[in-house]
Amino acid sequence: MECLFCKIVKKETPAYIIAENEVILAILDAYPASDGHVLLITKKHFPNIAEIDEQSWKYLLPLMKKIINKLKNTNLPTLPQGFNIISNMNEIASQSIFHFHLHIVPKYEKNKGFIWTTKPELKYDLNQVAEKLK
Ligand SMILES: [Zn+2]
Repeated sequence: MECLFCKIVKKETPAYIIAENEVILAILDAYPASDGHVLLITKKHFPNIAEIDEQSWKYLLPLMKKIINKLKNTNLPTLPQGFNIISNMNEIASQSIFHFHLHIVPKYEKNKGFIWTTKPELKYDLNQVAEKLK
């Protein structure tokens, strides 16, 4: 089966397109975490964020900024107080469509929309982790 986002890019599958440039398409998420939840997808198929090319990064960031500014000034029905910008990579990290996409999730209230959870019970040696990652 062909990739859903490739079909949206080719206009074979309908989507709520809100903006685009030469490389990136911005659509509303069909399963929003909050009002105004937008997906930025590359017009070219890349499996995930680690695979996208330099040109995609170059075109992605200005469009992301433009959409955030639009959302900041749009009542849906209220103005968002913040945003979560997320890209899930691989199934274990909740990626469900294996075509790069970046979520822009407006945050209206602390306990609604995307919820960031930390794990205070996790204890490990940060020095050791930092050394391994250098
Ligand atoms: Zn695709």
